[in-house]
Amino acid sequence: MSKKLIIAIDGPSGSGKSTIAKFLADQINATYIDTGAMYRAITYVAMRNGIVDDKDKVIDFVRNSTIEIKYENGLTRVFVNGEEVTDKIRSAEVNSKVSDVSTIPEVRAELVKIQRELGKKETVVAEGRDTSTVVFPNADIKIFLTASLDTRADRRMKEYLESGVETTFEEVKESLANRDRIDSGRKVSPLKKADDAFVIDSTSMTIKDELNFLLNTIKEKQKTN
Ligand code: C5P
Repeated sequence: MSKKLIIAIDGPSGSGKSTIAKFLADQINATYIDTGAMYRAITYVAMRNGIVDDKDKVIDFVRNSTIEIKYENGLTRVFVNGEEVTDKIRSAEVNSKVSDVSTIPEVRAELVKIQRELGKKETVVAEGRDTSTVVFPNADIKIFLTASLDTRADRRMKEYLESGVETTFEEVKESLANRDRIDSGRKVSPLKKADDAFVIDSTSMTIKDELNFLLNTIKEKQKTN
């Protein structure tokens, strides 16, 4: 690729952001930034430290911690103060608290700083809820990825079954709907489509179609640069 690009993909839980972002990053040799993994890591350690419901303590903790993410061989690895928490951040317990922690403006400010720093160096594919609106408002390509709630719950259910997590479709759907409500309704950096974002509805699109769309969009973008 010729010029350094920033590609920002936002959308609700289970819309397929991380799948497509990883495929794209691998394809164009970009750095992949999974911003959700950072919110999850903070939430996990705050829960373990028994401070997750104390906003001031969470803020203090984030301000005095180092949070690192690395993308290697298809896996996002996350470290908090040097401790790897990668395997701990995708549990139902973290799911139930992460959206509350993510409403805290001071927490967001700290994580956005780190995300922007990562975006300075190379071509990046960032994904989350506010990467196209707040983290990288000048991103070269913005995507709002969505899918119906049932489709998203179905995908999550399959992932849980594969990893041996016991749950029901209704529970998964309820958890997604709850996070959607908090993520889209919060005052600071709510999940919303950027005015200049392309909308992709992944309910009826294959990953291959999505990837082709993105690669063509990048090609067009580079012609105009
Ligand atoms: O993308 P993922 O499902 O891993 O994100 C977990 C949670 O982190 C989201 O439900 C949301 O509350 C929060 N988040 C956020 N802003 C981002 C990425 C994630 O608030 N940019």
